[in-house]
Amino acid sequence: MKLSLPSLSVNEGIARSAVAAFCAQLNPTAVEIADIKCAVSEAVTNCIVHAYRDTVGEIGITVKLCEGRFVQIEIRDKGCGIEDVKQAREPLYTTDAEGERSGMGFTVMESFCDGVNVSSRVGRGTTVTLIKRLHK
Ligand code: ATP
Ligand code: MG
Repeated sequence: MKLSLPSLSVNEGIARSAVAAFCAQLNPTAVEIADIKCAVSEAVTNCIVHAYRDTVGEIGITVKLCEGRFVQIEIRDKGCGIEDVKQAREPLYTTDAEGERSGMGFTVMESFCDGVNVSSRVGRGTTVTLIKRLHK
């Protein structure tokens, strides 16, 4: 499945519902669907609030169902990029100055998925790949 959405907050809910609906064909448990929704929501919110902070840009989402009941979800933006990915992934690390964010987005993705990969280039954008293994 390929999806492209503008980085508007209304699209956060649409993105996670669309990904969950696509994954439903593998008969996941309710908990697995909730995990996927939560992780997608964090990644898409990051595109909206960080990558395209003062503008609206494109969020690309690709979902693949792989051999062995693995789901691969890729969330891409062409926004500001992340200078230090290792630091950004640390729990409680945030660049939000208004104090509204807790710096737990990547930690949430890691705890709800079986794999999280982040590749980013400053000024070019960020791709977050989430891997979720579903029950046999
Ligand atoms: P929370 O997710 O708890 O509301 P947060 O978004 O700051 O807070 P994380 O989601 O863990 O925390 O992200 C950590 C930091 O990584 C962000 O503060 C931001 O600086 C950077 N970041 C994350 N995703 C992106 C992105 N797609 N583009 C640019 N910067 C990003
Ligand atoms: Mg976040």
